Amino acid sequence: MSNDEPIDSIAELAALDPPLAMSSADLDESDVEAVVAVLRSGRLALGPWAERFEAAMAEYAGVRHAVAVSSGTAALHVIVRALGLGPGDEVLVPSFTFVASVTPLLFEGIKPVFLDIEDRTFNLDPEELERRRTPRTRAVMVVDAFGHPAPWDELAAFADARGLRLIDDCCEALGAEHRGVRLGALGDAGAFAFYPNKQMTTGEGGIVVTDDDELAAVARSLRNQGRGAMGPWLSHERLGFNYRLDEMSAALGCSQLARLETFLERRAHVAELYRRRLEGLSFVRAPVVGPEVRMSWFVYVVLLDKGLEREPVMKAMEEQGVPTRAYFSPIHLQPFIRQQLETGPGDLPVTESVARRTIALPFHNRLGADQVDRVVSALESAVRSQTSA
Ligand SMILES: *Cc1c(COP(=O)(O)O)cnc(C)c1O
Repeated sequence: MSNDEPIDSIAELAALDPPLAMSSADLDESDVEAVVAVLRSGRLALGPWAERFEAAMAEYAGVRHAVAVSSGTAALHVIVRALGLGPGDEVLVPSFTFVASVTPLLFEGIKPVFLDIEDRTFNLDPEELERRRTPRTRAVMVVDAFGHPAPWDELAAFADARGLRLIDDCCEALGAEHRGVRLGALGDAGAFAFYPNKQMTTGEGGIVVTDDDELAAVARSLRNQGRGAMGPWLSHERLGFNYRLDEMSAALGCSQLARLETFLERRAHVAELYRRRLEGLSFVRAPVVGPEVRMSWFVYVVLLDKGLEREPVMKAMEEQGVPTRAYFSPIHLQPFIRQQLETGPGDLPVTESVARRTIALPFHNRLGADQVDRVVSALESAVRSQTSA
């Protein structure tokens, strides 16, 4: 909610003694100074900050290359194009995700083939991979739902055996680990996103991370109007985009990245406050975290019991001043997808059952125990009013 409304000044931002906002970027004076310094320098694009941000992100993700772009969606689009996927190809992708996991496939004329999920972590069900594969399958668009790493052991085995590519939409999972390996380093390439509700922000922004030299070089060219690394400014080697990240955003990224580990610890603490407050409630399940992972908390999503419906519960919470979000609304049920791909209800039973019952609760770095208590109390009374209705 807070992210949809313009905020006029830092003073106004600070004055938002965080009421129950759905999300809230963690900004301080060092962030302000970093951005102001860029403005004072007069160099607002194609400067040193994007390069610094790329070097820092590559190091953080444990990969050789990082290519900064203007959004997470742009990062995924550049990866899909750089891998040479196109018309006639199919890519396996969960439907329980944000629309941006799928739109880059559609831009390139690729057919998305939707996978059902398992109802523990809400990640793709590995058994679905072989079930939905066809001779046209070229890749899997992996999603690490809500910051919980996908089943990477099974994914790697599947991709190896079948000669398929793995793209990691790890836009919700910056800092998450699978068996001690940070996300971004798994698969052929990964995409992170820095919209203000993510674990750290650049305003708008995203980044491609990869160990593949060729893929990185093509991604660099694609984001910069198809220019070559060395050629003259008005020489274009391929059809490209303007997906560059500006210098203010890159400087903010550097400043935020320096505090990322603190953010992640703080978010884990707030998640723990929620877990304790939810313990013992019979009608709702707190998020499940597998033993093989380090979760990076993006949003805090609870699952209502079968028989409960999220919409009336969300409405009753809203009436008590507690905002919530319907994370996720399955992609195979989105109006334009149904029309274009002839998908519909009944295609993915687990996804559909889960999506009727998942609610994202207010979640950000500065939530305290009192606010967590207020949210869960509102949830309790909302459920009570539904069951007694
Ligand atoms: C945030 C997000 C993206 C990218 O979003 P942008 O707004 O384009 O930065 C992509 N996939 C998922 C799953 C996301 O949550």
